[in-house]
Amino acid sequence: MKDISAETTDDCCAVPPVQGRGTKQSCPVCGAKGKNVDTQTVKAMLAVSLDSLTSRAYRFCPTQSCEVVYFGERGDVYTEDDLRERVHQKHPDAADVFVCYCFRHTPGSIQRELRLTGTSTVVEQINAGIRAGQCACEIRNPQGSCCLGNVIATVKRVQRGTLLFH
Ligand SMILES: [Zn+2]
Repeated sequence: MKDISAETTDDCCAVPPVQGRGTKQSCPVCGAKGKNVDTQTVKAMLAVSLDSLTSRAYRFCPTQSCEVVYFGERGDVYTEDDLRERVHQKHPDAADVFVCYCFRHTPGSIQRELRLTGTSTVVEQINAGIRAGQCACEIRNPQGSCCLGNVIATVKRVQRGTLLFH
């Protein structure tokens, strides 16, 4: 019989993130409280060598004007330049920066559908994808969690006309 617990221990990538105690909660640059992200998200997102990782736990800085995307409890920081993706929270008004990274929706594509059809089906499309097991937010979305809140906010902004592209 296979010993699953031993197998899990042997897998270096299965090391759980260290969270809570001793974790610096605020971005060292802007001071905003960052949300915990799994280290797997940081590892998946970085476009630089992972030998630069010095912390065991990372947080995501959501401040639009702050260049920091991830900061570790040991003070190491990563900016968008270090990442494979541009980050929605840093460019909420950009037409071409993904708001949904799994199914590749952007504020521009959301506006296009609304203009053409008068309605938005993006939330239904994403929910259908989630139900089908097709999403991978933890490794595709820089925030490491589901995009739906951001998508709903973006749809509302486009509908209200507070987010408009030409
Ligand atoms: Zn910050």
